[in-house]
Amino acid sequence: MSTVEQQSADISRNGGGDGRTFAVDNPATGETIAHLPDMDAEQVHALVARARAAQKAWGEASFDDRAAVMYRARKWMTDNRERIAKTVMDETGKTREDAFIADVFTTADALGFWAKKAPSYLADERVRTHAVLAFGRKLILRYRPYGVVGVIGPWNYPIANCFGDAVPALMAGNAVILKPSEVTPLSSLLVLEGMRAAGLPDDVMQVATGTGETGAALVDGADMIMFTGSTRTGKKIMARAAETLTPVSLELGGKDPMIVLRDADLERAANTAVYWGMANGGQICMSVERIYVEEPVYDEFVQKVVDKTRQLRQGKPGGAASVELGAVTFAPQVEIIERHIRDAVDKGADVLTGGKASNGPGRFFEPTVLTNVDHSMEIMTEETFGPTLPIMKVRDADEAVQLANDTRYGLNSSVFAGDPDEGERVARRLTAGSACVNDAVINYAATELPFGGSGESGIGVRHGPGGIQKYCQVQALAVTRFATKRELYHFPYTKTRSGLLERMSVLLYGRVPRKYRNRR
Ligand code: NAD
Repeated sequence: MSTVEQQSADISRNGGGDGRTFAVDNPATGETIAHLPDMDAEQVHALVARARAAQKAWGEASFDDRAAVMYRARKWMTDNRERIAKTVMDETGKTREDAFIADVFTTADALGFWAKKAPSYLADERVRTHAVLAFGRKLILRYRPYGVVGVIGPWNYPIANCFGDAVPALMAGNAVILKPSEVTPLSSLLVLEGMRAAGLPDDVMQVATGTGETGAALVDGADMIMFTGSTRTGKKIMARAAETLTPVSLELGGKDPMIVLRDADLERAANTAVYWGMANGGQICMSVERIYVEEPVYDEFVQKVVDKTRQLRQGKPGGAASVELGAVTFAPQVEIIERHIRDAVDKGADVLTGGKASNGPGRFFEPTVLTNVDHSMEIMTEETFGPTLPIMKVRDADEAVQLANDTRYGLNSSVFAGDPDEGERVARRLTAGSACVNDAVINYAATELPFGGSGESGIGVRHGPGGIQKYCQVQALAVTRFATKRELYHFPYTKTRSGLLERMSVLLYGRVPRKYRNRR
């Protein structure tokens, strides 16, 4: 029996339930590669109960004890990279490079990053107060794990955006239940095997396989939810979590703009646009989804992008460097890509290359470049999540900024400029949660920088101090060591003490500081 089948059998035994299953397909071949249990609410709540019991000891373990597990898991991932990459490729249809760079390498990096940073990001903070009434107290802000964190993930990065978010939650002392996408659950089961091999105590991390209902049950049972997925589902999760006042962190969809100014290095801009527009088949939350180019360099930039796009090879991924683009992982996505292109063409857009889905076996969509696009078209306003690059001509940087900000999303963004300082000035005017100058997406690799969306791209951040503090409740401690028998404000009220308190407040608050007196 393979590991995955063994774990699938474990899961079935753990939950009981009515034996419902769902199928997992390889999108590059169309073959069904596994059947897994579709866990119901009762099964999920049983996992939560076991996680809650296991969390106690894990939460009391030292950072070093937890870090040792993470470093061993990192070694396990590195040793088993071929197996992991193959599992990711089989269930997503992505290339070996996409699986290896993003799912294996990024997650291995995250294991070490959080192992190293957790103690400082979650250290007790001593606080000094300005408040007269609290003078002399020892004031401490401390982080304490929520307990059981539910991590609900999407299909585009089945490890990086599912288990990857479990790593800081675990380092903070939580137990975690992963609810991977029903499209790509096998990678999470494999990682569970790795965590067991690395010595993670039983039940500290478990996997709940299933569909949206399984995820909804996890929202009901967990103490905190980390969700990565579509904006539509994110809203449902937030509404459901409101029933139990469960905190949520939401990493949602995007429609990331790229701006190319007239003095930009067009070769670098075009290479970056084609890579970050087409990498992972365009199925990245922060893909370059729309491009605005200043008029004087528009034609040259478009030509470069078209030439580079035509050179991309697409097909069933094999070994290293076999193809640049793999399959469309999720079947309904093909219809969305087709709809956006059809809508654009109906409204006057030109397709310069690509534009069609291929006939099976497997599910592929040609890398596509469009021009003559505008904001009346879905391809410029809605998340396409496919290998499409619509390019729009703009008069100047002001028009580019206005159009880039004309969106309900706000995940990532990029600006290409000959003068990096001018690029930074333009980047600061963008409303997205992140912005790169003369690059795209690279901010994500700097795990010290917070990453999170504005608008309908999400709430909360992953990475940076906030990326682990969010998995904790903040407890404020005020310790009085030396004190009189009675405070000035204690009972019984007397005219003398009330008068003293009043005079004190007039003295403290009755003046505007000199610096601000004449400022209007
Ligand atoms: P999705 O919203 O359809 O599904 C995500 C997960 O939510 C799946 O595990 C699914 O089973 C679960 N789910 C569905 N309904 C649920 C419910 N009612 N309650 C609880 N869980 C439920 O997203 P997807 O199609 O898997 O992923 C693609 C989307 O993810 C894109 O919009 C992409 O931009 C986004 N994404 C965002 C980021 C980011 O960091 N911001 C990263 C990767 C992907």
